[in-house]
Amino acid sequence: MLFSKMFIPTVKEIPKEAEVISHKLMLRAGFIRKLASGIYTWLPLGLRSLRKVEQIIREEMNKKGAQEIIMPFVQPKELWVESTRWEKYGKELLRFVDRNNRELCLAPTHEEVVTDLVRREVRSYKELPLTLYQIQTKFRDEIRPRFGVMRGREFSMKDAYSFDVDEAGAEASYKEMYEAYVNIFNRCGFRFGVVEADSGQIGGSFSHEFMVLADTGEDVIVSCDTCGYAANLERAEVGIIEKGVARKKDLHKRVPTPGQRKIEEVAAFLGIPADKLLKTMVYNTNQGIIGVLVQGGREINETKLKNLLHLDFVELASESVIEETTGGPLGFSGPIGLSIPLYADRDVMFMEDFVVGGNERDVHIVSVNIDDFAVKDFCDVKVAVAGDKCPRCEGRLNTTRGIEVGHIFKLGLKYSKAMNAAFLDKEGKEQLMVMGCYGIGVSRIVAAAIEQGNDENGMILPAAIAPFEVTVLPVNTTHAESLEIAHAVYKGLLDKGIDVLLDDRDERPGVKFKDCDLMGIPLRVTIGERGLKEGLVEIKLRGEKESQKIRKEDIIEKVVEHVQKLKHL
Ligand code: ATP
Ligand code: MG
Repeated sequence: MLFSKMFIPTVKEIPKEAEVISHKLMLRAGFIRKLASGIYTWLPLGLRSLRKVEQIIREEMNKKGAQEIIMPFVQPKELWVESTRWEKYGKELLRFVDRNNRELCLAPTHEEVVTDLVRREVRSYKELPLTLYQIQTKFRDEIRPRFGVMRGREFSMKDAYSFDVDEAGAEASYKEMYEAYVNIFNRCGFRFGVVEADSGQIGGSFSHEFMVLADTGEDVIVSCDTCGYAANLERAEVGIIEKGVARKKDLHKRVPTPGQRKIEEVAAFLGIPADKLLKTMVYNTNQGIIGVLVQGGREINETKLKNLLHLDFVELASESVIEETTGGPLGFSGPIGLSIPLYADRDVMFMEDFVVGGNERDVHIVSVNIDDFAVKDFCDVKVAVAGDKCPRCEGRLNTTRGIEVGHIFKLGLKYSKAMNAAFLDKEGKEQLMVMGCYGIGVSRIVAAAIEQGNDENGMILPAAIAPFEVTVLPVNTTHAESLEIAHAVYKGLLDKGIDVLLDDRDERPGVKFKDCDLMGIPLRVTIGERGLKEGLVEIKLRGEKESQKIRKEDIIEKVVEHVQKLKHL
């Protein structure tokens, strides 16, 4: 490609709306442009990267025997009613009505459609196992679209679905996809981790997330260096540290705490540490009002709570519900005398002589002990923090940040049961198919790669996904020999199958070097008047400071060698 002919609208100023580096650089380097909140156009440079990511994914999926299809982006309500997700999906599912008053939605994911396809077409165990995938647009009406294409509303996803005759088959399919994902993310040049994850809206029995390690990641990864346990914070379990505790009862006293609602305020007012307080939170759930107790200073993990109690929804109760339930205002709730079911974090079992809300304005109760109220269940409901005990060993937990680029789920019978996706087994008996589903954020990968590779001058992209592998840059295009050699090198590299950009613009050298760095192209061949006098041209790797002088006759061979090394071929 010739730079002079390409549509590359670069921007010098740092765009104001962009919070993270990948978003800034994608705008500045002319990769993407915003149309509306969370909705972007991919420009030629960005699209080249996106296509390379797609190709890597395609190759690795095909190697595992998965077959590519494309399913509709617009889907009828009826299928979503069958799976019960029409009600459950919430506002991320964008619903609308056509001219005939039929209700439709834009696909946030494709379990319903693929299950419908397979139940209609697959009859016998002989046609299974089957794994189908697509690379296609999804729409999710995210509450907070942000960070450019990292959390868009319209975005590209690779989604795959496996269908097996039994649990063992489904596990084998899951393992194949797991391996494909490891290969894909290695080829993308990522530093990444695999963590246990919550299965969220998609549902199913267990799942893993693939996380690119980056400080700006939205997800928090909890891990143990001792045993290798790693989980998304949403689901991270916490080990229990048992201590002896003296069982005392009825020593408690009511004390005035005027205007002190928050844990820190009450602790400061009473002159005690926050962990001597018990936090009582009232939740509204589909199973009624419940109370959840954790030690002061800790947070409740609502995802874990939801999973533990098998709830469809859970939200903090409103002030009026709190008043009705406890008799006191928000900020003064406590477990003593409450008649709602109380669930306590296991730490609470080992608390002694603590403070709780008095269920009355401006009152707390001190010298409380665990036998002063009835707990329905002690469970692991707190948000993990660094330093907590590992749930699997004696080690301690760490936290790091990550960007979720892939998510695989074992679905089991969830969709095949709801939608009756059955086949005939060897004995001619009808059985339900056992399913798995596997997503990759294709557009998010491009952003994640930039998040992981950048410096003050721009992107530092892995050769496998950079828009070009090499730039050939004649310093002065009015110098005939420079231009002639640049064209010859460009042609020679194209013939070798190298993805190369010739910066043939009549621009100042500084501008050309800057653009080349900004776009993150891994290798630059600089052709200058001075070097040519000695028969030399220059090679520079984007991630390195020093350049190398090479004899001009050797340049093609050297560049090919470098590119192969960069792509680990
Ligand atoms: P998240 O927790 O980030 O919302 P998710 O669990 O909803 O992700 P999945 O339903 O598993 O995501 O989708 C598969 C993949 O699609 C994710 O791993 C992620 O890489 C990508 N993805 C999900 N939502 C978005 C989005 N709004 N914009 C871009 N990519 C997304
Ligand atoms: Mg999501």
